[in-house]
Amino acid sequence: MSKAVTPRKCSECGKRRMPAKRSNGKASTKCKECFGGQFWLSEFGRWFAEAAKRQSPASMPIDENDIEGIHALWKERKEATGFTKGDGQLKPAYEYHISHRDPAKGDGFQGRFTTANLIIATAKANKMAYNDEPIDHGFRVYTDKKPFGTAAKVREWCGGQYDLTGIVRDLGLKKYVSKKKSNADINPDFLPQGKPPQTMLEQQLRRFKGGSTDPWRHTISNANDSFTSALVYGIGLGSGELDESYEGTKERREEDF
Ligand SMILES: [Zn+2]
Repeated sequence: MSKAVTPRKCSECGKRRMPAKRSNGKASTKCKECFGGQFWLSEFGRWFAEAAKRQSPASMPIDENDIEGIHALWKERKEATGFTKGDGQLKPAYEYHISHRDPAKGDGFQGRFTTANLIIATAKANKMAYNDEPIDHGFRVYTDKKPFGTAAKVREWCGGQYDLTGIVRDLGLKKYVSKKKSNADINPDFLPQGKPPQTMLEQQLRRFKGGSTDPWRHTISNANDSFTSALVYGIGLGSGELDESYEGTKERREEDF
């Protein structure tokens, strides 16, 4: 363990506070709140703080790489949602959630907020599978640590844990500005069309070793049911571990909408 860290003057806000920790284990010159500032102002950071409220310090992402993996999924979901136009309004074409395989709030455990425990599923399947937990996917943390409960608590804890500034730099995260476009001017042909659930399911299963819809090919009639099965019972016939050779997310990372 490193030596005890004491409160000191923050180089950003000037307040006397506990310094944030850098990825090399050394203390930052900034306090926890200032250190991750840019991260929390980004669209992803705002989502992340909300999404992690049901977790506790025991069930958070393993490290910075893990958070970047979650970001890749977050981006993939955004693109898969796409746009459609109805009644002159732009609407999401599909509704997807980033779902836990082992649920965040299980019976005596918390499903870890980690790339391999997350899968993009239809919102409907996520609701159908909600907290159903007959199979252990391998991401259960048995703990009595209380969930953060608020985004502010998530932010404070993360500031002392991860190199958020490094993540901002790696991912090129920008401050989120709400784009209030006039819908009438937008031609949806120029916007992402989204990804139908069946395609999304096959791509998501390919993220995992042995993950495939092949074993079910004859029985799949509807993507929501298949997504629910994948969430509750696991990934095809495989081990369910992440397949490091999966390239889908990397390819997409280079495109920019
Ligand atoms: Zn500060």
